Amino acid sequence: MLRTTIAGSLPKPAWLADPRFQLFAPWVVPPDRLREAQDDAVRLALADQEEAGIDIVTDEEQRRRHYIWGFLEGLRGSTLGRRYVREQAVARVVAEVTRLEPVMVEALAFAKAHTRRPAKVTLPGPMTIVDSVLDEYYRGDEKSLAMRFAALLNRKARDLAAAGADVIQFDEPCFNIYLDKVRAWGIEALEVALEGRCCTTAIHICYSYGIPRVQYALTLPLLAKTRVHQVSVECAASGVDAAVLAEARHKDVLLGVIDVGTEEVESPDLVAERISKALAYVAAERLFPCPDCELVPRSRPSARRKLKALVEGARLVRGQLEAAKR
Ligand code: ZN
Repeated sequence: MLRTTIAGSLPKPAWLADPRFQLFAPWVVPPDRLREAQDDAVRLALADQEEAGIDIVTDEEQRRRHYIWGFLEGLRGSTLGRRYVREQAVARVVAEVTRLEPVMVEALAFAKAHTRRPAKVTLPGPMTIVDSVLDEYYRGDEKSLAMRFAALLNRKARDLAAAGADVIQFDEPCFNIYLDKVRAWGIEALEVALEGRCCTTAIHICYSYGIPRVQYALTLPLLAKTRVHQVSVECAASGVDAAVLAEARHKDVLLGVIDVGTEEVESPDLVAERISKALAYVAAERLFPCPDCELVPRSRPSARRKLKALVEGARLVRGQLEAAKR
């Protein structure tokens, strides 16, 4: 119970990508040495997570410049690849979108060869992809474009599951922005992405800071009816009332207990307190403590220490629960 995991990516080493950029940080390694450098960064990322004691690990997206574009780069029909440096704001869909390269499967194989822990792979969700591309080819509505991407994501998820992914997580930050679209087609698109026999599946939904605090109350009941196994929510920085988690109690809840917006490292006691609040609504077996969101904005020392605090906080609560049983 209370196994720990990662919600998103972690900061890259400065020798791999320019740390002055949080989004689309340029590689600082020449192209002919990039693959080797990324391999080394993944090895370090796995070692950092294992050293901290994280139970379900990821390659921390060390090979991607951006969490959406990592998926789009492998597709024929989008303008990513070499041209995207000058088109950072938006990727354009200019031809039939088809699956292309097995890049992510190869990346998973590498990660699995370098850790014995269960491995998670993250993919952008269909709604978030639609929100970040400019459709110049299909010229249809957003829903049909989302369904196209959902079908591609589903094939990718099946490939990754067949290649040994233990968890596949879809990131849908847009689920808390366009609540009407979530109801209209976002959930349906997600279900298409999740179809068929797969491994454990998760969805991460960000918290929209500054917007009235009703989002999880609307999205969690909808997600509770889907086939997704795990729901990842941000509960540290948002200060959201843990009572809303009752809506997701029949799913695994990936509980954000680490604030990714500050360098300051939480004490294990504070982490334990955040976990304990959620325990009133979700069983310990279903609760997976993790950072709120991606730790990319943080320095590497802060990110590492936050992972340690996460693990120590979970351990404290586990100890309390075991003592209470005796
Ligand atoms: Zn998030």
